[in-house]
Amino acid sequence: MTAAADRPSNAPVRPPFAGWLGTTNDVTKTFLAAGRIPGLINMAGGLPAPETYPAEALAAIARRVIAEHPQDSLGYGPIEGLPELRDALAARLGGPDFRLGRDNILVTTSGMQGLDLLGKVLVDEGALIAAQAPTYLGALDAWRPRRPRYRALRVDQPDFDAVAGLTGARFGYAVPNFSNPTGRLVPMPVRRRLVEAALATGTWLVEDNPYGGLQFDGAALPRLIDIAAREAAVVAPGAAPSAAPSSAYDGPVIYMGTLSKEIAPGLRIGWMVAAPEMIAALTMAKQGSDLCTSGVTQRIALAAIEDGLVERLQPDLTALYRARRDALCAALAEHLGAWFTFEVPVGGMFVWVVARDPRIDTDRLLNAALDAGVCIAPSSVFDASGDDRSAFRINFTLNPPERLEEGVRRLAGAVRRLTDA
Ligand code: PMP
Repeated sequence: MTAAADRPSNAPVRPPFAGWLGTTNDVTKTFLAAGRIPGLINMAGGLPAPETYPAEALAAIARRVIAEHPQDSLGYGPIEGLPELRDALAARLGGPDFRLGRDNILVTTSGMQGLDLLGKVLVDEGALIAAQAPTYLGALDAWRPRRPRYRALRVDQPDFDAVAGLTGARFGYAVPNFSNPTGRLVPMPVRRRLVEAALATGTWLVEDNPYGGLQFDGAALPRLIDIAAREAAVVAPGAAPSAAPSSAYDGPVIYMGTLSKEIAPGLRIGWMVAAPEMIAALTMAKQGSDLCTSGVTQRIALAAIEDGLVERLQPDLTALYRARRDALCAALAEHLGAWFTFEVPVGGMFVWVVARDPRIDTDRLLNAALDAGVCIAPSSVFDASGDDRSAFRINFTLNPPERLEEGVRRLAGAVRRLTDA
């Protein structure tokens, strides 16, 4: 029985919830609720391994920054973020061909807030978003209240036409490094085409890069923002970059990053890099969201960056995740290879597992998997229309190898039951 049905019949009728709540995907609710089932092996989330959180180092930093910077840590701060952190991010995030100034940087309450602010700034009802498909579920969630329309950017297809993809859109959205959900890299020629199309059509292009630091094999590809800066020759060849923290970058790429995957998601620290006019608009939107990101965690983030914490953690983190990826892929090949195909990702947190037989419906597989004690994320939640039931996303970072293997065994049992039925 629902809570509403329990209320006395003469109770006044409460106003309805906003209409967008009725448009959420039921499968999303199912798999978010699954996190609370005891004994379940959760392979659905995009969660780091909790044992990698540098708790002692962060505790020491927290004690120091609150004692040394009580006003910054405990007071309200500037909406855009602490100036020292913005300068440190500007110095860190510039590329070989361009420099960034303080007014190219907005500190956000992690990556999710950046996506929410983009919706506030760029999306009116019915506006078109051109999103790499399949699309990060959190982005779809962030923009759903604004009721956008979507065009799928199928960057993996050989005939992908970036100009046609971006024309008429408020912005393009891509996760070029180890995409959520597919774990794939957008190849270099497609990166170039996307940036050229953004420049040619005057479209903003959002580069969401939470996983770039989690590369296990091979060398990193240039970011979209690097390519845009080069194409637009933001700093004329031969011109000496100025050391002053004034603005330089004015390109179409809006770059987003976070500390969630490389340090700890509980810090809720992220950043956006963009042309100053876009940073100003996002700042207006942020004022109406949270006034400012937590000063304590901004100060912790600044100290962690200055101490080189990310660089110190990275080798162990990538070694751990590489081994877990290998364990998961071996188990997938052994137990699910007859029914599904997948590519081995060279970084990130996910493998995208595609059914060989179109009769396998991965929404139905989720329910069978939950009965078997394992949770995966079906493709429908990464599809703006909710229709795609051909694949699922599976995570390899949260669980140790034995548990990954046990999860895949349970999943194979669920597939067998589903295909025998
Ligand atoms: N973008 C993508 C593609 C993600 O996968 C995530 C985390 N799952 C985020 C943004 C947001 O992460 P956070 O808010 O923790 O920075």
